[in-house]
Amino acid sequence: MDEPSDCAAPVPGFDTLAVRAGGLRSNFAEHSEALFLTSSFVFENAAQAAHRFAANGEGYVYSRFSNPTVAMFQNRLAALEGAEACLATASGMSAIFSCCMGVLRAGDHLVSSQSIFGATVQLFAVVLARFGITTTFVPSDDPAAWARAVQPNTRMLYVETPSNPLTEIADIAALKVVARAAGAVLVVDNCFCSPALQQPLRLGADVVIHSATKYLDGQGRVLGGAILGGKTFIQDQIAPVLRTAGPSLSPFNAWVLLKGLETLGIRMERQCANALVLARWLSAHPAIERVFHPGLESHPQHALAMAQQSSGGAIVSFNVRGLGDVELRERAWRVVDGCRILSITANLGDTKTTITHPATTTHARVSPEARAAAGIGEGLLRIAVGLENVADLRADLTRGLG
Ligand SMILES: *Cc1c(COP(=O)(O)O)cnc(C)c1O
Repeated sequence: MDEPSDCAAPVPGFDTLAVRAGGLRSNFAEHSEALFLTSSFVFENAAQAAHRFAANGEGYVYSRFSNPTVAMFQNRLAALEGAEACLATASGMSAIFSCCMGVLRAGDHLVSSQSIFGATVQLFAVVLARFGITTTFVPSDDPAAWARAVQPNTRMLYVETPSNPLTEIADIAALKVVARAAGAVLVVDNCFCSPALQQPLRLGADVVIHSATKYLDGQGRVLGGAILGGKTFIQDQIAPVLRTAGPSLSPFNAWVLLKGLETLGIRMERQCANALVLARWLSAHPAIERVFHPGLESHPQHALAMAQQSSGGAIVSFNVRGLGDVELRERAWRVVDGCRILSITANLGDTKTTITHPATTTHARVSPEARAAAGIGEGLLRIAVGLENVADLRADLTRGLG
């Protein structure tokens, strides 16, 4: 297979990379990327088979190890994140799990933001704990708290920025200083921004994690994940875990994601623009108490967000006004139930706008006290803004807001 010759410009821009980077072309000279649905690859003779097995990664052997369609997705995403290397996984959670398996061992400790994806909290606090790996959870926006939480056995710092659903911003460069002093790896889950808005490796992160299920696919079709970082780190610490444990990305899903990346920049641009318009409109609405969106000047970390990200992102959360939990839930649910266009679902990153009531869905398993401490009340709603006309989204929300 050859690299298409039209992808050889010295420093192509983001959108050029999104459309062309990592492309491989077979002998049939297909224009669009080919889908290699094959579990194994054949050898010309016994000697070549022996060589492929010995060479460890050179040439294709078996799709649990590597596959040309998966390789195209990995190489394209690596180009977009500015990473030396990328390995794809079956889901975002398997990327996080495999990263932990590659970096940590029994007796190690990790410091994590407390505002992270619910399944990641469970993975750290329940699953890893069974194998003797302990976690301290700290506020994402307080670097001093991270430094205080470090122990002699701390090997990993883990953060999502902006956080879900309140869009708190973690200072990646400040956390890098804490990680360096601790001799720990700084891992950033870049799901909410995607490389179109934020490239954590350029801000000091060692490793980037993706749930490709969200903005990278962008159309709610397939699950996928990725781990990105330095070549040696990926080759020596992550690849052996993935080859052996086998949470491999299906070539079909890789092909869908590869095509998703081609429109990432333009989708994010429009979805973020829609989100900002909606956030400003919601801020001025009398039925709403507070809006959370990093693109608003009223966001407490607006300046930091704008330094790390090229825009505020496509997530908008807000508190409806009301007195007491019963009334707040009733008013929030009225907004949800008034929607005819917005989808009532917890997924995000889709071209279709989604609306979620975190207190009774994504964060329902969290205790009421912990929810209150995290600022996730009964009046909070989260919208992941898509590509519909903003006027239609506004009309949809107006029905329930009164
Ligand atoms: C969805 C999500 C994940 C998990 O990804 P899956 O593809 O569902 O396994 C991890 N982190 C964040 C921030 C997410 O939104």
